[in-house]
Amino acid sequence: MAGVVVGSSNARIGIQAAIDILGNGGTALDAAVAAVKLIEDSLDDNSVGTGGIPNLLGQVELDASIMHGKNLASGAVGAVKGYPNPIEIARKVMEITPHVMLAGEGAELFAKYHGFSTAELLTDEARDIWKSRIESGGPGEQKIDEDRFELFNKAVADWAKLLHKEIYGTTNVIVRDDNGDIVTAVSTSGWGFKWPGRLGDSPIIGAGNYADNRFGGAACTGRGEMAIRSATAHSVIMYLRHGKSLDAAVREAMEDLNQLADPFAERSNTMNIVAMDREGQVTAASTGDTATYVYQTTDMNAFEERTRTHVPLEGLDS
Ligand code: ASP
Repeated sequence: MAGVVVGSSNARIGIQAAIDILGNGGTALDAAVAAVKLIEDSLDDNSVGTGGIPNLLGQVELDASIMHGKNLASGAVGAVKGYPNPIEIARKVMEITPHVMLAGEGAELFAKYHGFSTAELLTDEARDIWKSRIESGGPGEQKIDEDRFELFNKAVADWAKLLHKEIYGTTNVIVRDDNGDIVTAVSTSGWGFKWPGRLGDSPIIGAGNYADNRFGGAACTGRGEMAIRSATAHSVIMYLRHGKSLDAAVREAMEDLNQLADPFAERSNTMNIVAMDREGQVTAASTGDTATYVYQTTDMNAFEERTRTHVPLEGLDS
């Protein structure tokens, strides 16, 4: 089968680069990293890499992970500041360390040691979005003050409710090459206005990212806390392993989220999955009814944008 790439809608920015690499006989790993890197570098996206909406303190903190379905090798970095391409650092963690995940200062030290270049990640646009919320005092109409932890905590909780549609965003890229290797790559600036140091699902193998050549790959965007609690990406692969079709596996993983009481973000919360089976068939689902994903094979001249299956959240509100 031809090389295949599937991703969240913002993966349109990098999908052709991945296809070009596959078309030239390159690997799924190189293709996935190249695609994600372009999305991280794009200023059109306020949720990944440079231009991401910052945390409560106005700092852009990036998370990324990569998983290779051949041997389940994985690498991840979380809460990294000042390095624009966390997907490359995650790859390095996977390739040369005995670890899977590095976070914060340790991840930055690793990146520095390996010569990754630094950059200012906070764009004027993202700073303005952050400032306008902070200066207006946020939902509680009070100014955020680092020394007032109670208020700080409340602001995070309030923003989860108020800004649930504006503060999320991540990119997912899943690639299958001619060897049948499946690689999943995920990168994000996480939840805007998050508590500093907060990690979402994106750097957590099994939550926002999972690949196993024997069954397929899956990756998530949306409210990361839900995917962590339900191990959503891994659930898709587990349902495939137990014989479900790709569509059924994704639906079941989405329906598992109905069990998650969430007093902070209500049912208007979002969760999205893109997935691929071992043969390179793809699908995607969303709790929203208008979400899309992108898909391209090396036989296609351009990507196709497709509507995701709508699987609304139901059940408990708190
Ligand atoms: N899943 C990401 C996180 O929770 C954000 C997103 O995909 O919207 O950090």
